[in-house]
Amino acid sequence: MSETLFDKIIRREIPADIVYEDDALLAFRDINPQAPVHVLFVPKRRIATLDDARGEDGTLLGRLLLAAAAYARAQGFAPNGYRLVVNCNADGGQTVFHLHVHLLAGRTMHWPPG
Ligand code: 5GP
Repeated sequence: MSETLFDKIIRREIPADIVYEDDALLAFRDINPQAPVHVLFVPKRRIATLDDARGEDGTLLGRLLLAAAAYARAQGFAPNGYRLVVNCNADGGQTVFHLHVHLLAGRTMHWPPG
């Protein structure tokens, strides 16, 4: 699958409010936030969907979760709590086909989600 706007954000070709970066990951604020805090954690190496991930991607996927958790801890959201979301394909609500983890915080989340 061809590249998405997230590749352009990673290459700094379009602007984003970047809050975290390391050798493998970039995190930036969602342009249409669904909570007071809404950050997207994105691997620099594009995997289109979670359904495309394979065993060799396990370390990268683990790093995504750990980076989001570390960010939440560092920003002080962890004691109250937060939510991580991965949307996969159409019924999952995925619109950008570059795997990413949503970090939502700053309000009480509801269940079931919409
Ligand atoms: P998905 O629906 O694929 O799980 O999530 C894609 C997310 O990317 C959406 O929450 C959407 O608001 C966000 N998004 C789409 N375009 C842009 C953009 O140009 N910049 C930023 N920062 N976020 C975007």
